[in-house]
Amino acid sequence: MEKLAEFSSLLATPKNVVVTTHFKPDADALGSSLGLAGYLKKKGHTVTVITPSDYPDFLSWMPGHTEVLAFSPEKPLVAEQVHLQIAKADIIFCLDFSSLSRIYDLTEPVKNAMAIKVMVDHHLEPENFASFSQWDVTAASTAQLVYRLICELGDKNIIDSNIASCLYAGLMTDTGGFRHNNTRREEFLIAAELVALGANPSKISKLVYETNSIERLRLMGFVLKEKLVVLPEYNTAYITITDEELKHYGSQTGDTEGLVNYALSVKHVRMATLMYKRKNDVKLSFRSLDEFSVNEFARAHFEGGGHKNAAGGQSTLSLEQTLEKFLALLPHYKEQLTRTI
Ligand code: 5GP
Ligand code: MN
Repeated sequence: MEKLAEFSSLLATPKNVVVTTHFKPDADALGSSLGLAGYLKKKGHTVTVITPSDYPDFLSWMPGHTEVLAFSPEKPLVAEQVHLQIAKADIIFCLDFSSLSRIYDLTEPVKNAMAIKVMVDHHLEPENFASFSQWDVTAASTAQLVYRLICELGDKNIIDSNIASCLYAGLMTDTGGFRHNNTRREEFLIAAELVALGANPSKISKLVYETNSIERLRLMGFVLKEKLVVLPEYNTAYITITDEELKHYGSQTGDTEGLVNYALSVKHVRMATLMYKRKNDVKLSFRSLDEFSVNEFARAHFEGGGHKNAAGGQSTLSLEQTLEKFLALLPHYKEQLTRTI
C-alpha cells in the first residue's frame, strides 16, 4: 500500500471501523471482510461488518458471520443500525468493489460519511473515492490483498485459523478452485501460507462447493437440461431464468452462482452469459476465455464491469428485452468471438 506509514499510524489507536463489501457478497467479498474484521478486532478496534444485502447460505460457516449486519430495506431495525454505524465510523473499509454503485442502498450513506475510506480491491477501472487503497488488478482475490496488507503492517503473526479460513475461502473461490487463469505462483504461495496459519483446504472446499440444498441441485438440473442455449455461430452460450422458474425451485440467494461456468464449459464457447430476474432488475453474469473482454462488454452495454474474463452487469429492461438486447449485440462482436487464436 502507498502511504503505508500514514495508514499504520491511523490504526495505531483504537477506532470505530466499518468493513463493507458489494451487494450479494460472494466468498471473496465476505471472506475478505470477515478476515480483515477478525484482524482489526484483535488489534483493539471496534469493528462492524456491513453487507448491502443478504448472502448465500454456503458462506454461513465463516467465523464472525453471525455478527454481520446484512442491510435490507425491509428490515428497518437493521437498516437503522447500519446507518448509525456508518455515520459514527472513523474508518470505512470497502472490500472487493471499487465502484460505489455496487453497494446499492449504501452508496449515498458511505459516500457522505465523514469516515476515512480505505479501498481494498482487484477489479478493473476503480473509482477514486478512497484516501488509502490496496488495489491490484493482477491479484486473483481481494482476500489475498487483505493478507498482503496485514503482512505489510508487520502483523502476520496475528492471523489465526479463523482469519486464515475466511481469507483462504476468498482466494479459493476467486481462482475457481485454483483453476482460472488468474492463478499464479503468488496465489499458491499465499494459499500455502494460509494453510500453515490454520486454514483447512478440504474442509473449506466441502463447505463452499459441496454443501448444496436439494432445491439448488434441482434448479441446476433444470437449467442445464432446459435453459442452456448454445449459439455456435458466435461461440456463445447463454442461460435465462425467469422469476417464476426461480420461485418454482425455491431458489435462495447464491443458488445461481456457478451456473454460468457450465455454459462456458461447452466446447468452443468463448463467452457465456447468465441472466435472471431480480426484484427490481435483471442480473447478468458474463464469463469469457482468452482475449474476449467481458469487462468491456458489461461496461459498454449493461452498466457493469469486473475482470477481463468474469464480469457482471444489470438491466432495467424485462428479461425478454434484456435477452433481445444481448442477442442484437452479438453480430457486432462476431469477429472477436470467432477469430482464430
Ligand atoms: P458475478 O457474475 O459472479 O456476479 O461477477 C463476476 C465478477 O464481476 C466479480 O468479480 C464481481 O465482483 C464483478 N461484478 C459483478 N457485477 C459487477 C458490476 O456491476 N460492476 C463491476 N465493476 N463489477 C461487477
Ligand atoms: Mn473478488
